Amino acid sequence: MTTTDDRPAPGRVEGLRDELDGMFFLPGEPGYDEHRRAWNLRARHEPAAVVRAGTAEDVRRTVRWAAAAGLGVGVMATGHGTGAAVDASGILINTSALRRVSADPGRRMARVEAGAIWQDVIDAAAPHGLAGLAGSMTGVGVVGYTLGGGFGWLGRRYGLAAHSVTGAEIVTAGGDLLRTDAGRDPDLFWAIRGGTGNLGIVTALEFALHPVREVYAGNLYYPLDRARDVLEFAAEWSRGVPDELTAAITFRRFPPAPAVPQGLRGRSLVAMRGCHCGDLGQARALIDHARAALGPAEVDTFAVMPAAGLAAVSLDPVDPLPALSHSELLADLTPEAIEAVLGLTGADSPLVMFELRQLGGALIGPAEALSPLAHTSARFSLNAIGVTPGAPQEATVRAHLARVAAELGPHVTGESYLNFLDLDGATPDRIRAAYTAADLDRLQRVKAGHDPDNVFRFNRNVQPPIER
Ligand SMILES: Cc1cc2nc3c(=O)[nH]c(=O)nc-3n(C[C@H](O)[C@H](O)[C@H](O)COP(=O)(O)OP(=O)(O)OC[C@H]3O[C@@H](n4cnc5c(N)ncnc54)[C@H](O)[C@@H]3O)c2cc1C
Repeated sequence: MTTTDDRPAPGRVEGLRDELDGMFFLPGEPGYDEHRRAWNLRARHEPAAVVRAGTAEDVRRTVRWAAAAGLGVGVMATGHGTGAAVDASGILINTSALRRVSADPGRRMARVEAGAIWQDVIDAAAPHGLAGLAGSMTGVGVVGYTLGGGFGWLGRRYGLAAHSVTGAEIVTAGGDLLRTDAGRDPDLFWAIRGGTGNLGIVTALEFALHPVREVYAGNLYYPLDRARDVLEFAAEWSRGVPDELTAAITFRRFPPAPAVPQGLRGRSLVAMRGCHCGDLGQARALIDHARAALGPAEVDTFAVMPAAGLAAVSLDPVDPLPALSHSELLADLTPEAIEAVLGLTGADSPLVMFELRQLGGALIGPAEALSPLAHTSARFSLNAIGVTPGAPQEATVRAHLARVAAELGPHVTGESYLNFLDLDGATPDRIRAAYTAADLDRLQRVKAGHDPDNVFRFNRNVQPPIER
C-alpha cells in the first residue's frame, strides 16, 4: 500500500508497536511530539514513527523491522547534535529511557547504555576519584558525543573520548546485536571510535576512566575592550604550556537569567579560560603568569575544584533552545587571525558564544586510530553560536556566521571537527573534511560492509562508496 506523499502508510510501520518493550508513536499520536523533540529546537525530526526504546532488544527489533519495510533509522538520545533530521522515510529511535551506567573503579572502566548523559557518568565515577572525558556540558549524551570524537577540559592530556572506548554493543543494519572490541571485529571497532552513528545503533559503550579527582580551572573574565590583549597573550602563552592544561578564549554574551552567576549576568565579556589536570603548583604558576601579564580580571574564577564540577567553567546553556552554529579549525592565532577575530566579536556581534579552544597534545590521536578531528595540527577549534528564537534573529545570526566563515577563511586549515557540525552546517564536504583521506577511505569501506544501503543516514553521514 502506498500514499500520495512519501510517508509510509501507518499500516507499514504500525505492526512494530506490539513487539516492543518500550513505546511506539505515529504522527499525530500523543507522545509523538514529545519524543521526537530535540534539545536544539531548530532540529525537526519528522519520522514515520518514533520508538522510545525500553530495552536494547527494542533497538534490534526496530532496525530489523525498518529494514524489512525499506525504511531508514535515526537515533536521538538528547538532541544536542542533529546532523540530519529524520524524515518520513525513517524511524526515529529515542534512547532516553536507556540510562543505566556502572563504574568499575578497580579496572577504571565505565559501561553506559545508549541514552546516558555525562552527568550520569560523573555521578558514578567521581566518588572513586575517576573521570570520563566529558565535554563542556553534562547534559550531552555520552554515546553521541563519544562516537563523534568528544573533547573537553581534559582533552589535551587524555585525548578524544572516542579513543578511550574499549568495547561496544551495536545493532548493525542487518538487525544483529554484536559485541565489538579490539579483538572482535577490529575493523568495526576502529570505525565506531569516530565514525559517529554511521555503523549502527550503539546500545552500550565501555570506556576507560581516568584518575582525575581535582583540577585547577576557571575563567579570567575581562571587558570586551581587553579582547586584543587577551588574544595576543593567549596566542603566545598557549604555545608553551604542558598538555595537562587545556585553554580557551571565549567571547560570551550572558543572558540576564537568574541561573547565570552575578557579575556575569546580562554582560558581554571575553574570558581566558582553562583547566589544568596535573600538578596543582604548576597549574597555579601558569595562571599566575596570565594574571600578571593581563592584570586583574573583572571576575577571576580560577580555583582548585573537583573535576566533577567542570561544567561551571563553561557555563553552557542547559535548557533547550534554537541555535545555529559555525565551526572551523584555525591553523594558528597569527596577528592577522587576531585582527579577523576582533572584527567578528565586538559589542555588536549577535552571537552568544565565540569560542577558540586550544587543540594539540593528545587530541591529535594515535596515527592508527580513526580521528573525526582529522589528526589535525590546527592550534585552535572555533565554535561560533547564535540563538534564533524568530526569523529576524535567524537572519542576523546567519549573516554573521557567513561573515565568520568568510573572514576567517584565510586562517583555517579547511579541516573540520565532526561533533561541531550541526544541521545545515553538517554538509557532505564538511563531514568529509573531519577525516584524513586515508581514514575516510577506510571508514567508507567499513560502512559499505556493514550498511551498504545507508540505513543509518540520519546523522553526520558518511556514505558507502559508490561502486563503479
Ligand atoms: C551545549 C552543547 C555543548 C557541547 N559541548 C561539546 C564539547 O565540549 N565537546 C564535544 O566534542 N562536543 C560538544 N558538543 C557536541 C556534541 O558532542 C554532539 O553534538 C553530539 O553528537 C551530541 O550527542 P547527543 O547524543 O547528546 O545528541 P543527539 O542529537 O541525541 O545525537 C547526535 C548524534 O549522535 C549519534 N548517536 C547518538 N546516540 C547514538 C547511538 N546510541 N548509536 C549510534 N549513534 C548515536 C547519532 O548520529 C545522532 O544523530 C556540544 C553540543 C552542545 C549542544
